[in-house]
Amino acid sequence: MEGARNQLKLTRLKTAVVEGNFDWTFVRLETDEGLQGLGECFFAPGLTSILRSLEPLLIGEDPRDVHRLFRKLQLATSGAGSIAGIIYNAISGIEAALWDLLGQWLEVPIYRLLGGKFRDRVRVYADCHGGEALESLDEVLRSRRASWEAKAAAHTARDYYGEVTGELPSSPEDYRRQALKRRAEGYTALKFDLDVPGTQGSDPHNRVLTNRSIDHMVSLIGAVYDAVGKDTDIAVDCHWRYNAADVIKVARELEPFRLLWLEDPVPPSNTAALKEVSSKVRVPIATGENLFLFEGFQEIIAEHALSVVTPDLQKVGGLAVAHTIAQFADVHTMPVALHNISSPVGTLASAHFCAAIPNFLALEFHASDVPFWNDLIEGMPKPIIQNGFISLPEKPGLGITLNEDVARRYARKGEPFFA
Ligand code: MG
Repeated sequence: MEGARNQLKLTRLKTAVVEGNFDWTFVRLETDEGLQGLGECFFAPGLTSILRSLEPLLIGEDPRDVHRLFRKLQLATSGAGSIAGIIYNAISGIEAALWDLLGQWLEVPIYRLLGGKFRDRVRVYADCHGGEALESLDEVLRSRRASWEAKAAAHTARDYYGEVTGELPSSPEDYRRQALKRRAEGYTALKFDLDVPGTQGSDPHNRVLTNRSIDHMVSLIGAVYDAVGKDTDIAVDCHWRYNAADVIKVARELEPFRLLWLEDPVPPSNTAALKEVSSKVRVPIATGENLFLFEGFQEIIAEHALSVVTPDLQKVGGLAVAHTIAQFADVHTMPVALHNISSPVGTLASAHFCAAIPNFLALEFHASDVPFWNDLIEGMPKPIIQNGFISLPEKPGLGITLNEDVARRYARKGEPFFA
């Protein structure tokens, strides 16, 4: 065994997809020494096919060369989108699995590999959607009935890709009830959607808001503030839907609620519009879940077009990329609040990262309504989130293992299951 400690070779890359409220896509890297690394990718159409294409690039490689293998995958996919895009959803999951392997091999937790921790537990904020439970969405954001949804409950299909029509408006009472429920669970920060039924403008495509819509948005967040706002931070999300001038009107009306942040007010990749909003309101503006690599963040941070940086670890390019982004944001005095829609596997990778950066604000939790979320992993106390915090596991690598029986029970049909 002593001699074997000097070498480690990747032998297989396997995938599995679990149907949570999104497709939780897992990458398992196997080695000749029997160690296995586990990572999670942000969902995307064709994702497991991409992962299988990348497998031959990794076979025979030493997984401890994390940065070199990242660069190898990046160069190999340079003709297929190495600047951005779903190639990085795949690479992010692989990169996380490499850190898991390195940690296990060195017998230290991932946060130690990132330079050690600033905190023992990680603050989690609950995504409260539009005041109602979010059902399961497929890889192109179509509503689907998941196997775990309560059979008795009526399936209210709401696709997330565009027009909101024919639905009852979200009510301040829905928002108030959801806020009180999550606050009672111990969360100290909550996030609500603003682009929900009842807040759309006169036209679903022109990014324009009516005064009636703005008033409705204010009534929704006002209900949350009145219920929990004295001791709970409130963030809101606009999902890139509005023009700068109208979302400025919204943000100004929301200023009295002293929001933690307002997320994605204007279409992505428009630094000027983002900067216009940021410079005209006294609400911290957040963005980042749709951006890739350090390069995706460099300009908006350097120009202070935002106040809160929200990369997604399962998409941005991995832990090392996110670490560079966080350091750059710290230099510019900006906190980082990781976007996260993953299973406990991705959430724990994110938690290691959140512990290891100074400028951490909060980590998202998006799966309050998935009944088996806690059951998917083993190796740490349950529930994983206690009173709105995750205590870091101290075991090597990621520190947890996947419960394959639970994963198999909810596996997406037609996808390989670590085969
Ligand atoms: Mg968002």
